[in-house]
Order: sequence, then C-alpha cells, then structure tokens
Amino acid sequence: MFEHIERVPGDAILGLIEAFKKDTNPQKVDLGVGVYKDAQGNTPVMRAVKEAEALLLKNETTKTYIGSHGDPRYAEVVLPMVLGQQGSAVLEAKRASATQAPGGTGALRLAADFISAQLPGKGIWVSDPTWPNHHGIFTAAGIKLNKYPYVDAENRLDFSGMLAAVQQIPAGDVIVLHACCHNPTGFDLDRDQWQQILEVVRERNLLPLIDFAYQGFGEGLEEDAYGVRLMAENLDEVIITSSCSKNFGIYCERTGCLIMVAKNQEQMENVRSQVAIVARENYSNPPAHGGAIVSEILHSAELAAIWREELTEMRDRINTLRRDFVAALKPYGLDAKYACVAEQRGMFSYTGLEPQQVDRLRDEFGIYMVRSGRANVAGFSHENLPYLAKAIAAVN
Ligand code: PMP
Repeated sequence: MFEHIERVPGDAILGLIEAFKKDTNPQKVDLGVGVYKDAQGNTPVMRAVKEAEALLLKNETTKTYIGSHGDPRYAEVVLPMVLGQQGSAVLEAKRASATQAPGGTGALRLAADFISAQLPGKGIWVSDPTWPNHHGIFTAAGIKLNKYPYVDAENRLDFSGMLAAVQQIPAGDVIVLHACCHNPTGFDLDRDQWQQILEVVRERNLLPLIDFAYQGFGEGLEEDAYGVRLMAENLDEVIITSSCSKNFGIYCERTGCLIMVAKNQEQMENVRSQVAIVARENYSNPPAHGGAIVSEILHSAELAAIWREELTEMRDRINTLRRDFVAALKPYGLDAKYACVAEQRGMFSYTGLEPQQVDRLRDEFGIYMVRSGRANVAGFSHENLPYLAKAIAAVN
C-alpha cells in the first residue's frame, strides 16, 4: 500500500536547525528559528506564566472536556485584548464570537474550513511573501490561493503595488492581512495605509482575514491592534486569528483564538454554531492548559501587570537590537543599505541579503538564516552584533 509514497524534503527551517547544531564554529549565530530569544539565547517561560501555572495546579479540580469553543473565561479576556478594553462598539453590539483553538495555526485552519464549507467558491489572497504555512493551510482546505505584491525589488514595502492589486481582487473574495509584525518581512502598514486598504475592502466587498500572531511585539498591545480594530469597527464582517504563542511565550501549549465578527448578534450566533462544527470535526475540543494560563493571567490585575512588563521587555529588546544592528553596520558604510531593519517591526526582518550572501554567511561565518534573507532579530545580541556586522561587510 505504501510502496508508491515519496519522501518529501523536510521543512527548510528544521534543516537549518540541524545544520546549526552540527556547526562547530564557536562564534556561530542562529537567525533562523521562529521563537523569541533573550540575551542568553534562551526562550524562557515568562514569570507571569509560571505563577499562573502554580495557581492552576493548586486549584484544578477536573480535566473534563472544555467544549468546542473552549473555555469561556479565556474568550472573556481575549476578546477585549484583541478588540479593545474599553468601549469596543463591536463587543458592545455582541457581534464578535471567540473560539479557542490550538494556536494561531489551529485558528487559521478553522477559518479555512469555515470558508470552504460556508463560503464555497471564494478565492483567498495572501501577500507575496507571506508565512509559508498560509499556503499549506488554505490549499489543504481546498481554497484557491492567489497573491498580491508586498515587497519591491529594493526590499521596501510595495504599498502602491499592493493597493493596485487589491483593487483588482474579485468582489467577495477573502484577503489575508497581517495585523502587525509581518512574517517574514517585518514591513507593517501605517495608519494611513490601513485606512486606504479599508476603503478598497469596503468598495469591493472583500472579507478580511487578519492574522494576529504577534500582538505586543511591534509597537505595543494596543498600537498593534490598530488595523484589526479599524476593520472590525468599520466593516460588517471580519475574521481574526489570534495567537498567544509569542506574546505569552507559550508556543508548545497551542493557544490561539478564532474571532468571527458578524453584522449583528443574530448572524454572529449563526456563524458561531458553524464554527463549532468545524472545530468538532478537526479536534473536538482545544487543548485547555494554554487558554487557562492566559485566562488566569488576564483575570488577575497583579499577574497581568507582570505579564505586560515582561512583554514590554521583549518588545523593547527587539526594537533596540534593530537599531543597534544598523548602528553596527555604520563603520562599514552599510547603515543606509540596511536601514530597513530598524524600521521593520516584530521578530523577523527581510534584511535584503541575497541568497548567495546568505550561503556565504553560513559557510564562512557560521551565521544561519533562511535563504530569502529573513533573519530572526531576536537572534541578535550585543555580543554577536560586531561579528555579524563584520561578516555582512565581508559578503557585500
Ligand atoms: N501566523 C503567523 C504569521 C505566524 O508567524 C505564526 C507562527 N509562526 C502563526 C500564524 C501561528 O502561530 P502558532 O504558533 O500560534 O500556531
């Protein structure tokens, strides 16, 4: 039965991790993986998370199923985190539904299956480039995937190209937008650009699906939600996939949420009932622990304050490293060439390094990143920046 099955190459990033592990260069630098790292190169458990887990362990009374939509206490805190703490018109109108999911990936798969089942025939449009798993998830759900441009030949945000392409998207199709910290490029839309996209989306009656995987990693918890809230408040229908993997550092707990915004409460309840079916068919109930951690933290003023401080520390570290990277290249006259790294946001950067330069950095200097030139900025450190700058100068 299995004789004809071909082996496919593994994920390029996993291959990179293996190669990095084997490299004996003492100065080697890993800029490939997709997780936050602190100054020591670790991905630690946040203090607020540890404290919440201690409370959960002490107070837990059951491990019974939590239902297809997950824990309502988790939804209660995630909805205002995403849509606004105070006076969210969307929440007041009760037109948003939250379904806990196994990570942002699980939420995206729910969205994809919902679109496939309830809105058949709609095409979906993603930025070129986008997080590669977008291609896999939407294609697996049988949705036709199309691309709109996002980066120009000079490694800048190609907003005019994007806007022109969005104006041509067939009415009624789905457009995937990254709320902030665009993966893989780090180029985000500014407020005026969000407004322009909103107008086209409204004109063409498109359905936005906003992937919100890095809330708090760009400019701040509230600032990063600007585009999401603008769309939700001004459109009848929006799909949002939120992830707590990065901002709570609970990658392996698989914690995310599908938020469906509908025209009114009645339609929201209808949509919600269909999302429950999609969840049930995929995995029945989401894993409980990660949602319980987030809920425990955000229901406690004290733990929430600790968490916000830790999140701010991560964000500030990344943004400082971005500026220091460009400063380290100044002695080599390369600061203007790589200035985009300081302007981008989030964990990833399209550095503008060419594939041949990436290969040389790996082979000659033990510096590992994806061949597209995407670097994980959290892999920079004040210790390795001088070495990185020297190596980049050598391949330029
Ligand atoms: N969307 C984007 C853009 C991402 O970068 C990621 C994680 N790399 C996800 C979604 C999925 O996140 P999670 O780990 O919560 O499934």
